[in-house]
Amino acid sequence: MHAQEEHAGKNPARGTQAPPKATAGPTVMGPGPMTASGALTLQRSIGNQAVARLHAATSARDTGLPVQRSPFAPVPVQRSPDNDPKPKSARQQALSTHKAVKEHWDHSYGGGNQGNGPEEAHKRFSRSYRGGDEAAQTLSHQAFLVYDAQAGLREQEESEEESVNEREVQGMLINNRLLFASNFNESMELFEDYQTDGKDGRDAYSEIIGTHQSDQGREANLPNADAREYVDRVKRAELKTKSLFSKSKPRNPTGDATADALRKRHGKPVMIVDISDPPKPLKHLLTHEDYIGAIFLITFGEEKKLVHAEQKLMLALHRSGVTPEEVRGPHAIMGRYRGCLCCTAALKYYQSRFTGLQFDPNPGFYYWTSLANLYKHQDHVVNDPKFHENMMELAQGLPSSSALSRVKPPANAEDRHGPQITEPASSAARRGYRTSSDTEGETETDSDRMDTDSDRMDTDGEYEPKPRAYDLTYTEDSAGKLGKGSKAQNSRSRARATRIVSPEGREEIQIAYLNNDTEAETNAYKKWHEKGASQAELRDIVMEVDVSDRSEAAVYSHVTRYVTGKTGHEKRDNTASGREDIKRRKTGVNTGKKESDSTGTGWQKMTRDSDDWKRLLAKVQADDVFYGEWQRRESDPDLGVIPFSKMSPELARYVADQRSTYTVSSMAGLLHMQEKTTRTNLVKNYGPAKPLATTSAQGAS
Ligand SMILES: [Zn+2]
Repeated sequence: MHAQEEHAGKNPARGTQAPPKATAGPTVMGPGPMTASGALTLQRSIGNQAVARLHAATSARDTGLPVQRSPFAPVPVQRSPDNDPKPKSARQQALSTHKAVKEHWDHSYGGGNQGNGPEEAHKRFSRSYRGGDEAAQTLSHQAFLVYDAQAGLREQEESEEESVNEREVQGMLINNRLLFASNFNESMELFEDYQTDGKDGRDAYSEIIGTHQSDQGREANLPNADAREYVDRVKRAELKTKSLFSKSKPRNPTGDATADALRKRHGKPVMIVDISDPPKPLKHLLTHEDYIGAIFLITFGEEKKLVHAEQKLMLALHRSGVTPEEVRGPHAIMGRYRGCLCCTAALKYYQSRFTGLQFDPNPGFYYWTSLANLYKHQDHVVNDPKFHENMMELAQGLPSSSALSRVKPPANAEDRHGPQITEPASSAARRGYRTSSDTEGETETDSDRMDTDSDRMDTDGEYEPKPRAYDLTYTEDSAGKLGKGSKAQNSRSRARATRIVSPEGREEIQIAYLNNDTEAETNAYKKWHEKGASQAELRDIVMEVDVSDRSEAAVYSHVTRYVTGKTGHEKRDNTASGREDIKRRKTGVNTGKKESDSTGTGWQKMTRDSDDWKRLLAKVQADDVFYGEWQRRESDPDLGVIPFSKMSPELARYVADQRSTYTVSSMAGLLHMQEKTTRTNLVKNYGPAKPLATTSAQGAS
């Protein structure tokens, strides 16, 4: 069944778009995650199939509209009789994508410096990189060493000029040669004196990675735990690399292609290559056998400002014109940090052509600047609907950060290509390091720092990996954290967060909660959490029926206690507050539903096609002030929510009464109001909601 058939002519939204048959289809999205104009915009920009997919992915779980039963049904082509839709510019495409991403990842962290993300994030713990990931891991190690080297050179410069704040180096392994790039061109240009054609017998790459920052430089402005993490990671990278370069080791015993390429560096060039103006055609540099083992330090002269390192590497690949068939052997892009959302989606896009391309699939947070660079310099990516789909797919999941290497993976961690847990995003690490390996290396001959006097990495040391002895627990991870994010004003994340729990499951949870049935509650939370429901989703389900005015954080920790089986017996404090919560909950709600739970909680979702919404809308229209605000938001979703104070007492009373039948969340959604404040104000002014069964005698007002 199509949206069109389902909703044609039923749009009650006066004053927005008239619903002539030709346009009544997919624009009628109700209060869900995509607005009429948003859907139309997307449709014009990325095609119907993508819209259908998005539509399915976001709104099916949220709106409860009947149309969602066939989420993959093709959406009818949107036609606008007045003007031919013009193809969008890459900037417009990027803005559409930006807007769509921010509907999911609607919190800004560190005042924007740490990017945007949702309320939760994955924390990833040390894992094994053996069995196929060695080349990528070695590449990441090289990125660490080249990063430390540029920081060391910058230290030596002691120039008065304001230097750039370099945060990243990424490497690309392609056709047995290595490319490195940084966020700022200046950082690669620091290696000017290390360039060689290879004919002078100089091992310039060893010199580069034998260059280091001072300990003060490494530790400056970092919390102790982070400073130690950085130093530990560089040292591990150094030790590992030292061993790779060791003459006594059999060559390439593990199939590590990055190590292979590095071992072929002797007699080969180390050169800075500006991809805006390469000294030789890029294709030649990336494919010719003369350059096997070469090291290219990539800059991008057309952009003086920050461009994420991995974007420069992708651009080098793109501009080279190298075809997938011309890439032989392992191909990877990897850095010291995990990619941001945009770079990860772009890497995924490149991977759809270069199918062997390896990269870190777990993105960090989202930055508009990254997407802005992509549309400016790689519009072919942004203009492809596939890229938008990649972005949306990733934005429907969670960003990741890494625990300190020293942290033991907690017992409740799930194995997601390495141990992982979900936590509030405020606890995510500020530093975006990739997940660390679970081993430490030692060389048999010496475990000291490399001998920098010789500027050589060659040694007779043997690298002996051994499992890391973790000395910290998850709760002792004192790395700098993101801290609480601030929610973008115009977002409605609650309605848009990923939804897993079925309507029956919601009811089950709500009944258990309202009945204060510990066992049923525990079972319900655990069951749905195992099926992938986040604690935030469970919290929201509880918040929908809770009238005790508990904060979101209190309900979140309530849910957490049940999910983790820690219902308050471990600590006296928790026990006390937990029981207190339940007492308040009990007084707030008539729990007499227990005997008649075949009808569930009795509350329904008000939807746009229900008659009661039409009646409510009539009341809205009678409230001039509120109706004006409401109309504006119907056509412009970015205006944010309407404050409760804009409601006339008559309208508020009417909405309060509707609570006997309908959930506040569904009504707040339709009214463009914030769920929590609406609920709180209604309870304050008109008392708690009463389930239908206990109020039915009063009838409708
Ligand atoms: Zn990025």
